[in-house]
Amino acid sequence: MSQEPAHAYIRHGQTPFFRLEKKIHDRAYAGVDAVMLGVPWDGGTTFEPGARLAPWAVRQASAHLQTYHPWHHVDVFRSVTAADGGNVAVPPFHPALARQAIEEEVSAIVEAGAVPFLVGGDHSIAYPAMRAVAKKHGPLAVVHVDAHLDTSGPEVWGDPYHHGTPLRHAITENLVARGALHQVGIRATWGHPEEGSVAASHDARLWDMDAVEDLGILEIGMRIRESIGDRPTYITFDVDGIDPAYAPGTGTPVPGGLTAREAIRLIRELSGIHLVGMDVVEVCPAKDVGDITSTLAAHLLYEGVSLMAEERTRTR
Ligand code: MN
Ligand code: MN
Repeated sequence: MSQEPAHAYIRHGQTPFFRLEKKIHDRAYAGVDAVMLGVPWDGGTTFEPGARLAPWAVRQASAHLQTYHPWHHVDVFRSVTAADGGNVAVPPFHPALARQAIEEEVSAIVEAGAVPFLVGGDHSIAYPAMRAVAKKHGPLAVVHVDAHLDTSGPEVWGDPYHHGTPLRHAITENLVARGALHQVGIRATWGHPEEGSVAASHDARLWDMDAVEDLGILEIGMRIRESIGDRPTYITFDVDGIDPAYAPGTGTPVPGGLTAREAIRLIRELSGIHLVGMDVVEVCPAKDVGDITSTLAAHLLYEGVSLMAEERTRTR
């Protein structure tokens, strides 16, 4: 199961993630190393909705990526057997059922021994995904790229599960190990002075945009990698961590973020970690300009799968 040649997908008119084989029926994930999974849910959005349509946009944008990674020197889709698992069929208006459906689908992937790569959807999908992954692997290291801390609670909306809350749940449920949460690109305003205390009380490492500017993304990537060691690691990548100039298609943009280059380099510098799951969330195609954001999201996803490919090549 490598990529289809480009002319084949043009012929049949469908665009699975990265021109991979589709594995939608019967969750036939046995023998698959990595499953791309769309999660068309944006019912957790607090500002501008539309991320539910991202799986289709990112699939289309991903069709022109090829398999060989010239920086890692690895043939990604020949080293890693990857497939498109389709979308989680979430009801677009029922958050509890949506969370349950996401957790079940991700559980099916990890139980089959595969690594899930989710394309949101808003960031609330990361919570059920991390639950499923941590159930299998134990408390995770989490690399969280975002403009926002995402440790809000129910205080604003009366609901504890909106898209500004996934890291609070990951912390309070010990899905992320103490001292093993790394938050990169953070710069958004807070609702109150204590907003940073949830992550700080779990000894999370904050790599805000001033740190990115002062240290450089290369140094930050190296420090994160050293800190994580061989702990099972989940990457949760909110595209609003990237500057709106490079990722305009997102619902809650904040100026002064990562460049596209810094985002890609950060993932590359994590080479050596043991990746057990990843999501790319908050792409909002209706706000996108010339597919800039969905194309970048496809590349971030590819960089994530490349970490798996690199790990396999190295340990073989
Ligand atoms: Mn965000
Ligand atoms: Mn977020």
